[in-house]
Amino acid sequence: MNERLHERLVEALGEARVVGDPARLAEYNDDFSEADPVTPALAVLPTTVEQVQAVVRLCAETGTPLTPRVAGTNVAGLAIPVPGAVVVDLRGMDRIVSVNAADMVAVIEPGVTQQQLKDHLEAIGSGLTFGYSLGPRRSSVLANCVLDGLTNRSLKYGAMAQWLAGLEVVLADASLVKTGAWALSDVPFARSPLPDLTGLFVAWQGTTGIVTKAAVHLAPGHPLGERLFLLAYSTHAAFEAMRRLVRTELCDDIGALSWPTGKMMLGVGHPHPVPDEGEPRYFLYVDLSAELPEEMAYKKKVLCRVTAELTREGHGFEPPLDVGTLVRLNPAMDKFASFPTDLDFLTDHPGGGLTWVGTYGPLSRFDDAADAGAAIMVRHGLAPVIVSRAMKGGHFGVLRFLATFDKAARAQVEHVRGMNRDLLADLTERGFVMYKTPAWALRELVAKMDPGFVALLRKTKALLDPQGIFNPGKLLLP
Ligand SMILES: Cc1cc2nc3c(=O)[nH]c(=O)nc-3n(C[C@H](O)[C@H](O)[C@H](O)COP(=O)(O)OP(=O)(O)OC[C@H]3O[C@@H](n4cnc5c(N)ncnc54)[C@H](O)[C@@H]3O)c2cc1C
Repeated sequence: MNERLHERLVEALGEARVVGDPARLAEYNDDFSEADPVTPALAVLPTTVEQVQAVVRLCAETGTPLTPRVAGTNVAGLAIPVPGAVVVDLRGMDRIVSVNAADMVAVIEPGVTQQQLKDHLEAIGSGLTFGYSLGPRRSSVLANCVLDGLTNRSLKYGAMAQWLAGLEVVLADASLVKTGAWALSDVPFARSPLPDLTGLFVAWQGTTGIVTKAAVHLAPGHPLGERLFLLAYSTHAAFEAMRRLVRTELCDDIGALSWPTGKMMLGVGHPHPVPDEGEPRYFLYVDLSAELPEEMAYKKKVLCRVTAELTREGHGFEPPLDVGTLVRLNPAMDKFASFPTDLDFLTDHPGGGLTWVGTYGPLSRFDDAADAGAAIMVRHGLAPVIVSRAMKGGHFGVLRFLATFDKAARAQVEHVRGMNRDLLADLTERGFVMYKTPAWALRELVAKMDPGFVALLRKTKALLDPQGIFNPGKLLLP
């Protein structure tokens, strides 16, 4: 590391906001996934936009790579730096700058966490809510939006970039840009109607600039809410129910979890790869909300009609159970009572490793893709832990295959890497596209992508980051 850069960063941010101590730097070298750890040369902890600009200016002058990071929970190695890099730890930029309840839009900084936003919206009595992922409560709302992740509101509103109304970004020359209507209006109401430059920072994994503020849409909350669970005895029954329920346009969220996922939630660390005789194969959860009890009763009636129809057609189902009853039967189900939550059965286990191949794809292909992916996992000796949900009104959905492993056991790391490669190849062949794509997967996928698309990606990257200082080694390989 250039000593002069260290000194100048201290001059710009103050001693306490520049970390050079190897023990503290180790905090930034890793995530849950099987990606190799790399310790940065330095970490900086800016609290203002001007400090982020100063960091970018100094790193650009010296050609030093930068990796933006908040909680590091992305499960894809995306916030792991390259050797010699400076990690920009944005947790200290955690202001909820404004909540405009009338226009249902909030402006937030990168360090705002899922739990923080939820608590704030409740505390101010906004009557508004947001989409919360299954990621830890401490993970960044802004990061999930710019990574185009998915949440419990993705069925109605789509992947999380759809919630972005505009961004404020520090570019490679340290200048500041606002995107969306925000470029002209003091109310950042939408990405429309100017050219949609917000996309230049969406799903780019921090490789085109550092986002310092996001304007995000909020959604109305309703006084009544219920989460119901349906047990399905076949893959086809589960996803056929998902497809039919989507078309009622009455549900806030519809997800399907495979049987080993349920077992893990109930405390079984490593479920057996083969289900017990007569065990349901999936449980679906369905979120309903309403203004009035009559509206809720109507929605439940339609839900029961759909499941009754499916049962009549010979698909195996148990009648819907509400989450309150399930929690009474087994308090471990409390994890699923409301979002955001901490799925500690996936993250707080002795080996500490969590990996997945998570894809977006067409609902019409879920049955075959889920069965094929399950077979790959079983072939690798692991139980098929599958998490899925319908998105954007059913136009697509997420299908994600998960495994926990011991990060310290090299053989297990190599094992999950091999399994993930097999899953990726199969799912890509079926038309599914991996999201929050890790570098290892991009190496496999670039050759299969439309060449014009890849060329445009490369040109865009070269334009926005001519020196290649922003999060190298991610989205586009060097
Ligand atoms: C158990 C578990 C369940 C999960 N479930 C879900 C789920 O249901 N849905 C889902 O979408 N995700 C899920 N995740 C993934 C994870 O929580 C998200 O990816 C999270 O939103 C990332 O936030 P973070 O603060 O950890 O970001 P980080 O991991 O710190 O950063 C993520 C990426 O964004 C970049 N970045 C961060 N901040 C900025 C910025 N200001 N400007 C530019 N680039 C930036 C980083 O460089 C990195 O590439 C889950 C994770 C776990 C562990």
